[in-house]
Amino acid sequence: LSDRLSGVFERLTKQGALSEDDVKTALREVRVALLEADVSLPVARNFVKAVQDKATGQAVTKSVTPGQQVVKIVHDELIAVLTGEGEPGSLKIDNAPAPILMVGLQGSGKTTTTAKLAKRLKERQNKRVLMASLDVNRPAAMEQLAILGQQVGVDTLAIVPGERPEQIAQRAKTQASLGGYDVYMLDTAGRLHIDEALIAEAAAVRDIVKPRETLLVVDGLTGQDAVNVAEEFDGKIGVSGVVLTRMDGDGRGGAALSMRAVTGKPIKFVGLGEKMDAIEEFHPERIAGRILGMGDIVSLVEKAQQTIEAEQAEKMMKRLQKGHFSMNDLRMQLEQMMKMGGMEGVMGMMPGMGKMKGKMGEAGFDDRMIKRQIALIQSMTKKERANPAILQASRKKRIAAGAGLEVQELNRLLKMHRQMADMMKKMGKKGLLKQMMGGMF
Ligand code: GDP
Ligand code: MG
Repeated sequence: LSDRLSGVFERLTKQGALSEDDVKTALREVRVALLEADVSLPVARNFVKAVQDKATGQAVTKSVTPGQQVVKIVHDELIAVLTGEGEPGSLKIDNAPAPILMVGLQGSGKTTTTAKLAKRLKERQNKRVLMASLDVNRPAAMEQLAILGQQVGVDTLAIVPGERPEQIAQRAKTQASLGGYDVYMLDTAGRLHIDEALIAEAAAVRDIVKPRETLLVVDGLTGQDAVNVAEEFDGKIGVSGVVLTRMDGDGRGGAALSMRAVTGKPIKFVGLGEKMDAIEEFHPERIAGRILGMGDIVSLVEKAQQTIEAEQAEKMMKRLQKGHFSMNDLRMQLEQMMKMGGMEGVMGMMPGMGKMKGKMGEAGFDDRMIKRQIALIQSMTKKERANPAILQASRKKRIAAGAGLEVQELNRLLKMHRQMADMMKKMGKKGLLKQMMGGMF
């Protein structure tokens, strides 16, 4: 997606105002991009229409290119749609014992999520939680919850063979009251598809416990299906919030947008793995960035505008594209990075920098190291900065000593410089460099 969009936005940067045509061209690509991210067709269509109405005729902010402005409008609108009412990650659990009903298809992650949430309630809000499995069809499922309960230190209702789900729900309710629990969570059975029996069972349980929250657990990778499931469950049982699981996979997260647009239900949590800590409250900005597939370009644009002298950057980019990347360029970049919030600040915002961030982290590349590197470069002569290849042992010793550092540190800097120069060259060839730096001027 980012390739596609950046192409269009690059073309847009050549012009001065947001004409209807500009916006239309850009949004055609946005629509395809949304579909690729698994957003359902009607949702993508409506979304694009909303953005078009907002964007067309909008005065172009002076310091921003039209392309960047469209990105920002798209991004802001995504966040607006993704944001549900209420604090993300909050659950209604006053009036103890508060029942929470977990529903969803088989394999969506209900049991795992039940235990994750119980752990969270216990650890973050100091709640006493009781969990009960109503999955009478699969005895293994009940044991699964019991095992997870032990693992996270949360009580589970004793298993009584032969009981119906309604009976278990009733017993959980009683036990929660008598036992002084703050919350009791009911993990229901799932099926591969929604059927009458499944709905009837969940509805019966609902009527017994009158849940404060009915959380629908859906697999975030299933895209369109997830939305159908959500509509069905909400219509028949009533859902108060959604948990999207498997958001650690490489799905683009389009299900989140469809889910919000179609059901209007708040997405409360996202599951990010199989471990008991792998859950967090839903962050609309993160999903928006992921759907756009381009890192947090908008904030990069905003930050960069404040700190970068356009002319300087433009000149530098021209040289970088040709494969010239001197120690001075590196120094400028390092200084720029410090201005923009250091390593963390910059890397997270740039598309395609994820890999590099990992590599640099391994090499111990942090803000302190950036400062040491700047010192090393300052200790070089002009000639050395332009052509680091001439650095022999004696020069290296002098430079390191001048900066009060070890030669080893200088070698690391030289290696990094070579790697970056290589990368710049490659990116320059692919036009990626321009895309990456395009936001900066
Ligand atoms: P249930 O049938 O709805 O109760 O689903 P389970 O809770 O048993 O989960 C099914 C499988 O999905 C298990 O292997 C879980 O470990 C896994 N799972 C659940 N949530 C996540 C998640 O957020 N990410 C990943 N990667 N796996 C998950
Ligand atoms: Mg289960």
